[in-house]
Amino acid sequence: MDPSRPHVALLPSSGMGHLIPVTRLAASLSDLCNITVISILPTVSTAESHHFTDFFNSYPKIHPVNFQLPPLDSSAHRNVDPFFLRWARIRESASDIFSHLLKSAPSPISAIVTDIAAASAILPSSRSNGIPCYVLFTSSAAMLSFFKYFPTYQGSNPVSIGNVEIPGLRTVPVASLPRPLHDPSHSFTQSLIGNSLSMVKSDGIIVNTFESFEPDSLAWLRGEQSPPVIAVGPLPPVKMAISTVSTVFTWLDEQPERSVVYISFGSRTAMSKEQIKELGLGLEASGCRFLWVIKTSMVDTEDRTELNQLLGEGFLERVKERGLVSKGWVEQDEVLRHKAVGGFLSHCGWNSVTEAAIYGVRVLAWPRLGDQRINADVVARSGLGLWPEEWSWEGEESLVMAAEISNTVKEMMADEKLLKSAQKVGEAAQSAARPDNGLAELVRKLKGFN
Ligand code: UDP
Ligand code: UDP
Repeated sequence: MDPSRPHVALLPSSGMGHLIPVTRLAASLSDLCNITVISILPTVSTAESHHFTDFFNSYPKIHPVNFQLPPLDSSAHRNVDPFFLRWARIRESASDIFSHLLKSAPSPISAIVTDIAAASAILPSSRSNGIPCYVLFTSSAAMLSFFKYFPTYQGSNPVSIGNVEIPGLRTVPVASLPRPLHDPSHSFTQSLIGNSLSMVKSDGIIVNTFESFEPDSLAWLRGEQSPPVIAVGPLPPVKMAISTVSTVFTWLDEQPERSVVYISFGSRTAMSKEQIKELGLGLEASGCRFLWVIKTSMVDTEDRTELNQLLGEGFLERVKERGLVSKGWVEQDEVLRHKAVGGFLSHCGWNSVTEAAIYGVRVLAWPRLGDQRINADVVARSGLGLWPEEWSWEGEESLVMAAEISNTVKEMMADEKLLKSAQKVGEAAQSAARPDNGLAELVRKLKGFN
């Protein structure tokens, strides 16, 4: 390690949506700082464990520190979201993780960057060790504004929740709030409040967005009493040293330019079997070419349903000339970059949104849970995509029917104005990704300058 550079340790929590921005930030910083990344084992999904292996193999200068969590009796937590559970376990083990990090690091640590989901637990340890602590917020600046304001809102509305008016910024309708927040005693609500209150005591909040994409949220955040908010986005995808040879790309290579709709709901959002059927029929009726990644369970190791069973006999045969359906992991970043892709039906996980922004790909937003409606609102406001707000999400029984899906997909793919405005977002994203952007500001701070 180069002793003249700051040594930064990054702590991801769990889930690909959290791991990916941490490794992107680590890779982006690795030319300017010495980097340690903590991997907390075992991971919840195989996608995470493959990502760690490929990442450490691809960036040999980045120092890995493994921390083994004590075993957990998962039968006692059968109905709990396994990723929420893992975030809670990481927080419980934070001081052990911290001591292990200090013992295993190859040189003294000058700053730590913690994933927001572990902030409330990591901050006290870093403070007591005199190490500056930055928080990586893994969603949008819009979500960050809501996240920051929520404890104040909850303080004056302790029993029930309604529309959340963020003074001087915007009102977040109750229908757009992550479902668990409807219950003030839910562990998610409690941990969100804890993380929000800790985050404001950190040395800085890092967010993977850029000025022209979310100008109002960033301006609001900077006008607030809070540590510096550093917009480092859009963080470029990590460059893995393995090549991605897959039928997906041979198929995409054969399709006309901008003709394919890519459909994915991220790494952990399962869709009901009934809704998957309607979506399939809608894609078929749209007449568009499509590449569709299907997930039927929250954790990839539990995904065992056969495609024919899911989609109905004959579906794959009927669409084989113009549709490809995959149940495994696809390199989404490479897909969105491919010239054949002309639109993205997305759940609006923040990483997916930033990837669509980097390549200027039109988005049809279909948020499913959590922060995704707040992110979908950014997509619609920025001109990156369309958001049919009445389409159902978590906790709502109603299905979005095939005819509605078909019409809206066709509308998006034919919308030249949207194509142009998404490309404009893409140009702004590319120019924001310059070396003198927020990342340079972050490096200055990591070196101890203000
Ligand atoms: N991803 C991917 N291939 C897949 C599914 C997901 O490469 O088959 C990546 C995607 O590009 C994104 C991340 O996994 O970087 C998912 O994060 P996001 O915030 O979009 O959604 P989440 O999975 O957290 O709901
Ligand atoms: N979050 C948190 N504590 C928790 C769960 C979530 O602070 O126990 C944060 C999480 O990091 C994210 C936001 O709340 O920034 C919204 O969570 P969501 O349900 O959308 O999960 P994600 O999309 O991050 O997987």
